[in-house]
Amino acid sequence: MPKYCLLTNDVETHSIWFNTLRDETGVKVLEEGMPLLLDIYKKFNIKSTFYFVGDMAEKFPEVVRMVVPFGHEVASHGWSHEVDQAFDVLSFDKQKEHLIRSKKVLEDISGQEVTSFRAPALRVNSDTPRALIEAGFNCDSSVAAQRFDMFLSFGGMKKLNWLKAPRLPYRTDPNNLFRKGDGPLIEIPLTAMLFPFVGTTMRIFPTITRMQQRLFHAETKSTGKPLVFDIHPNEMIDESTERRTIARRTKNPIKYLLSDVIRGKMKVKNLGPQAAVLYDDFISYYKNQGYEFITVKDYVKRNFPDIR
Ligand SMILES: [Zn+2]
Repeated sequence: MPKYCLLTNDVETHSIWFNTLRDETGVKVLEEGMPLLLDIYKKFNIKSTFYFVGDMAEKFPEVVRMVVPFGHEVASHGWSHEVDQAFDVLSFDKQKEHLIRSKKVLEDISGQEVTSFRAPALRVNSDTPRALIEAGFNCDSSVAAQRFDMFLSFGGMKKLNWLKAPRLPYRTDPNNLFRKGDGPLIEIPLTAMLFPFVGTTMRIFPTITRMQQRLFHAETKSTGKPLVFDIHPNEMIDESTERRTIARRTKNPIKYLLSDVIRGKMKVKNLGPQAAVLYDDFISYYKNQGYEFITVKDYVKRNFPDIR
């Protein structure tokens, strides 16, 4: 049974240090974060998948162009990463419009056909699968099966759906991304088990990630589940020389404390080049175990050959 490792990257102008979207962060992602990531992939001869936010791609087309020569996949991370533009609050028509717009911009810049999607902040609703199908996508990766977030992220309650979602890639129900069905859209769930399996966990709790690596490796050996890891080039930049205040995103004081203050303080640990060192170690583990590193698009082609 082949062992696949799908390394995925969400490219956005979100500043972890300032906890807000800003163009200055976009510049740093382009000039510092992306080169660090691309160097790591080049060193290990890895093909990965980059999910770009459309409005960032339009503003910084070079950030998309730079991944193409390495054979990485260009994919969509929606049009906007603004909290009020999340897919679970957009109408069906708006979701479809954002998808078509981002697909067009990314295809024009990269010259690749864009068929994979991940929702900003992983927020989706029952309209999302149909919007994706009608916009010409064949693969989603917004479901983190068995991940438990609650108040630690926005849209936390809706993410309880994750707890019963299948762990292995599946053909979705056209009205419910969290369920198996017979639709033309494949879900590639993000790997998780209570804790998310993402760059943030790797930076804040490296010991947990090392335990996750052993646990998920055992799972892959027994079920063939591909590992799907999510990292952000904005984790590889250091903005700590700039003064900050913690942006308040909610009026509820408890939510503010949990979601903004605690989260804001924890999330800045090991940002910058230190994140690249941890990621290098992380990848070495899978290289040594004989994993194959492919794009989401190639995984779909190999495992769901009837999907166009
Ligand atoms: Zn994102």
